[in-house]
Amino acid sequence: MATHIHSNTPMKRKSKIKYCHKTDPEAQKIYNWEFNFVHTLMNRETISLSKCQEIVNKVCKSFNVPSVLVKDGRGYHCGRFSIRKGKRSIHLPKKWRTNHAVLHEIAHYISDFCDPDNKTGTHGSVFARNAINLYLKYMKIKDPHFSKSPRIFKECFIENTQKMYEIKIAKKNEYPFPSILINSIKLIKDYCNENNTIGTLT
Ligand SMILES: [Zn+2]
Repeated sequence: MATHIHSNTPMKRKSKIKYCHKTDPEAQKIYNWEFNFVHTLMNRETISLSKCQEIVNKVCKSFNVPSVLVKDGRGYHCGRFSIRKGKRSIHLPKKWRTNHAVLHEIAHYISDFCDPDNKTGTHGSVFARNAINLYLKYMKIKDPHFSKSPRIFKECFIENTQKMYEIKIAKKNEYPFPSILINSIKLIKDYCNENNTIGTLT
């Protein structure tokens, strides 16, 4: 058990973010996990919209996928990743312009490459795996155990997520990452053309 990672009691604070129970059954677990566990470990100061775009560009480049446009999300009650008429974008209201919220939305974007038919659900096992990987790689983690022993911290983080929050995490070879799935520039270009995705190839 991950005793040395600080965490409030799971379900102590129930997230009030709206979602559809039918089409997104895992959402409540994910939101509770984020509110009660992830938020306690991560730096959540707000940053500028252009800084959010920089993070998106950096992460997308590391996955070898086209970047996605970050838009002003004022009017929305929370951050969101959307696909409208084939165009993908991330909307971030002011309060949601944090490193963490950006990574949450990128996890949706990356999950769309892995599971384009959304068979595992919007906040299902593929999303959980991708979000965990992004958080552990790109979040500014404030827990002192992380700098002392990143490997043990990561193991405990995943164990806490699975056991305390009952979140299912897809294995690496289930709906694999774009870098494994899409292994040539041509395939990425075809994907962009078909999906009208914004962004440049590097
Ligand atoms: Zn989400």
